[in-house]
Order: sequence, then C-alpha cells, then structure tokens
Amino acid sequence: MKQGFLVLNNLVKVFGTGEKVVNAVDHIDLEVKKGSLVTLLGPSGCGKTTTLRMIAGFEIPTSGSIYIDDEDVSTTPPNQRPTTMVFQNYALFPHLTVFENIAYGLKIRRESANDIRRKTKEIMGLVGLEGYEERSPAQLSGGQQQRVSLARSLIMEPKVLLLDEPLSNLDAKLRVSTRLEIRKIQQRVGITSVYVTHDQEEAMTLSDRVVIMHEGKIMQIGTPQEIYAYPVNRFVADFIGKANFIRGHVTGMRPENELEIEIMGKKIIVPVQKDVFKEGADVLLVLRPESVKLESKKPDTLTGIIREAVYLGSQMVYEVDMAENIITVEIANPQEHVVFDTGEEVTLTFQEKNLHILPYEKEV
Ligand code: ATP
Repeated sequence: MKQGFLVLNNLVKVFGTGEKVVNAVDHIDLEVKKGSLVTLLGPSGCGKTTTLRMIAGFEIPTSGSIYIDDEDVSTTPPNQRPTTMVFQNYALFPHLTVFENIAYGLKIRRESANDIRRKTKEIMGLVGLEGYEERSPAQLSGGQQQRVSLARSLIMEPKVLLLDEPLSNLDAKLRVSTRLEIRKIQQRVGITSVYVTHDQEEAMTLSDRVVIMHEGKIMQIGTPQEIYAYPVNRFVADFIGKANFIRGHVTGMRPENELEIEIMGKKIIVPVQKDVFKEGADVLLVLRPESVKLESKKPDTLTGIIREAVYLGSQMVYEVDMAENIITVEIANPQEHVVFDTGEEVTLTFQEKNLHILPYEKEV
C-alpha cells in the first residue's frame, strides 16, 4: 500500500503519433504526504505542466494511475476531482467583483448565502484581501489578483491544491514576497499542494520536497537540502545552484565509506554517502563555489591562476584556472578577506566533507 495522500503510479503521457510522438511524461512515480508542498521543477519542456494537468484532470494519462486520498481519480472529469488549480494568468472574471470572483465556486455549488458570505470573508482575511470586496480585478495589482486566484481555489476546500507557475507574471521583488505568503497560507491551511515552477530559488524556499524533472522523467526527489548537497547526477547538480565539476580517479578504498581519490595529481580522502564506487573508477567531484577558500600560493597544494575577479558587494566571484578545470569560487564578505587580482597564483582549499562524488559523466 502506498503511503502518499496523492500518489502518481507509473504515470505516462504521450502526445502525437508516428514520427511526431512526444513522451511528455515518461513513467513517473510520486507520493505526496498529506499537508505537504511539493514542487515540480525542471527546464522548459521537461513535463511538469503535463503532470500537473493530469492530476487536475485536464489531460488523461496514456497509462498509469493517480490516487487522491486512496481514491483512483485517473479518469475522473476535472470538475469532479477534489482538486483546484491556481493559474499563471490568474484567470479571474473581469466583470465580477473580488468578492464575487472568490465566492463563484460556492455559488455554483449552491451553498446558502450565509455560508457563502461567511466563508468568503474568512478566506479574504486569510489571504489579506479585507477591504477589497467591491473592487474589480482590473483595480488590483498583479500580486493582489494572484491572491484572489488563490482564495478562489482555497475556498473550495480541495484535497489537493495545484499551482501552475503562479508567480511568473509578477515582478522580481513581488515574486519573492508573494512566495513567502503562499508558503505561510499553505502551512496555515495545511493543504496538500503541488507547485510547478522552473525557478529553482522559488522551489527551494517553498517546498517540503522538490521533484527534479528532465525529459519527462523524475531525476530526483528530496528536500531542498538533500537536492543541493547530494544531487544524484550531473544534471541535478548543474540545475540546482552553481557547481564545479572535477574529474577524479578512485585510487584506494578505506573503511567506513571513505575513498582515496586523485584529482589533478593530488590525493584526497573523501567521505561518500553510498558504497558504490570501485577502485580504479573515474568519478566526478561536485564542488559548490561557496565551499572553496583561496589563499596565496603555497607549495604542494592544489593551485591555480586567477583568470577573473568580480566584486559584487556581498561577495567576490573568482574564475580560477587549474589547467584541466576552470573553478568558480565565491567568497562572501569580501572586505574580511584578502582580495586577489587577475593573474595571481593561489592555493585552493576545501573541506572534504563538502565534496560530493558522482559516477563520472561527460558534460552534456
Ligand atoms: P514549460 O516550463 O515550458 O511549461 P513543462 O516542463 O511544463 O515546460 P510540458 O508543458 O509538460 O513541459 O511539455 C512537455 C512536452 O510535451 C514538451 O515537449 C511539449 O512540447 C509537449 N507537449 C505538451 N503539451 C502538448 C500537446 N498538447 N500536444 C503535443 N505536445 C505537447
């Protein structure tokens, strides 16, 4: 028996026929816990919107099944599913007031006027729209319109709330504040939510768990911390945050999941999560730019030459040429560190625990 409140089971969606076949969603499995927020994250065309639309019932799966609260809804029409969707473009009725827009679904359900008034008032308080009852959508800012859209979805008390890039029409500053608001409201209501975005920062700040998709497949499911610190492959490491990739070679095995690895002619000991590497194997070391420290060149260390030094106020970003690799290094609080110039020779240091090891993969 699956544990999730929302369960996607071997879900497939194929569009087109013959030579024009697109495997938009390619055998995915996902379990979402009750009350949690999961984001589907990935580059354009990876299948996240199609997945969301299948959960909503706007697309019928080619194969596989969808369960919500133990009920198979795979072929249930959208209006009979216990889901509501918040759209990118808000999709509000322009000729109705804010109150009427939010109350619309309850009216269709023929709830009593008293209930409609009470619930609408309550939800408007929850999303911070008190006082805006009589305005029309055109008299609201983008952020306020999106709150109306959220309220309109929440008032239906769905079992699963679906959000399709709800912030992409807002400017950068408003996006940041609105995503925090959405997270607070989601947690206060305790509603199980699936959120589609291609913005990794948005996914990291909002999610209990992030689902990384690529070409219709799920690459990794994990908490934001797990995805960042322990990406399962080069695609995920590259997609989430910035990453340096250094080719290495396993030269010895140590007890307790430690490996002896040679990189650029130097041997280092690295702890690994899983005991999957063999002596002699080529590996890929993932090193985040903020995990590297720089000092003046010392003998018998990993060294490089500064090719570029960019001051960004809160941090200094260096590109360091290490013969086989160009390594990006980010140093926070530049005023508290020695600042290096282009052409200077430096020693690079990092803590082995901040290295993440993957099986070797070529750049794609
Ligand atoms: P974006 O961020 O650009 O919206 P996405 O990850 O949401 O991308 P989808 O919209 O799910 O991706 O599309 C996945 C693939 O399926 C793409 O190659 C897309 O062109 C294709 N696709 C989506 N809808 C259809 C359709 N109705 N007919 C044919 N192909 C489709």
